[in-house]
Amino acid sequence: MTYNTNSKTLKLQTAMVYGPVGSRRIGLSLGVNISPVSEKFCSFNCVYCHYGWTDTLSLDATKHQGKLPGVDDLTRQLEEYKVDRYLLDHITFSGNGEATYHPDFGRAVDIVIEFRDKYVPQSKTAILSNSSMVMKQEVREALKKLDRCIMKLDAGDEVTFRKVNRPPSQLRFEDIIAGLRELKKFETQSIFLDGSVSNSSDEAVDSWIKVMLELKPYSMQIYTLDRAPADDRLQPVSRERMRDIFLKTKKAGLPVNLY
Ligand code: SF4
Repeated sequence: MTYNTNSKTLKLQTAMVYGPVGSRRIGLSLGVNISPVSEKFCSFNCVYCHYGWTDTLSLDATKHQGKLPGVDDLTRQLEEYKVDRYLLDHITFSGNGEATYHPDFGRAVDIVIEFRDKYVPQSKTAILSNSSMVMKQEVREALKKLDRCIMKLDAGDEVTFRKVNRPPSQLRFEDIIAGLRELKKFETQSIFLDGSVSNSSDEAVDSWIKVMLELKPYSMQIYTLDRAPADDRLQPVSRERMRDIFLKTKKAGLPVNLY
C-alpha cells in the first residue's frame, strides 16, 4: 500500500534534552530524547506520526548501535539545560522515536530519576512509549521505576494494529499485550482516526475496549488528530464520534479521559 507524504509534519528534535513542552495531557514537561537527531528512527511507522514517516524502521537496536546517541552525556545535558525547573510537572522520555528501544534505556532512566530527585523533586518522571519493547523483562524493570508509564495502544486487534502503527512484520500484537499484562501498572494513550486508515468503527472500538478490560490500565487517554500526520489523507474523528467512543468506554467501566 502506498501512502501520501505530508510536508507539514514537525521537524525532529535536535537535542537530547528539549522543551519544556506544554501539553493538555501531561502539563509542562521537559523532554528527554534518546533517539537519533539526524533521522526518524522508530520501531513503528504510525500513519499519524507528527514527525512524518520513519526513516529507519527496526526492532533490533544492536544493528544500529552507531546511530543511537550514547547516554553518558545525559546527566550533563540535563544539568546544563536552561529551564525554570520549579515550573516543570514532568520529565518525560519522548522525542524522535521509541526510548525503550535504546540498549541503555535502563541507565537513562536511572540518570533522569537522579536528576529529578536532586533538582526537580516536585516533578514526576514519565514516558510516552509505543509499547513495542514491553515484552522484554529488562525494559519492564526500567519502566517500573518511572512514576508514569503512558503506553500506546491504538488498536484491539492485529489487523487494525498493522494498519495504524505499521510495525515491522515480526512484531506481533499479542506479544505487546502479553508484555503489558506483565507490566501491570500503566496508563494508556490511544488515538482515533478516520480517512485513509480508521480505527474508530464500532467493530474496532469494541475489540479495543475488550483488550482494555483485560489489561486494566489505571488511566486512559483518548484523543484524535490535532497535528499534521505522516499520511495527509487521514482525518480527525468528529467531536460527536469521539464523545460516543468516550461514553461507550466509560460505560464499560474503564477510567477513560477524552482530550
Ligand atoms: S511510535 Fe511515536 S514516534 Fe514512532 S512512528 Fe509512532 S507516533 Fe511516531
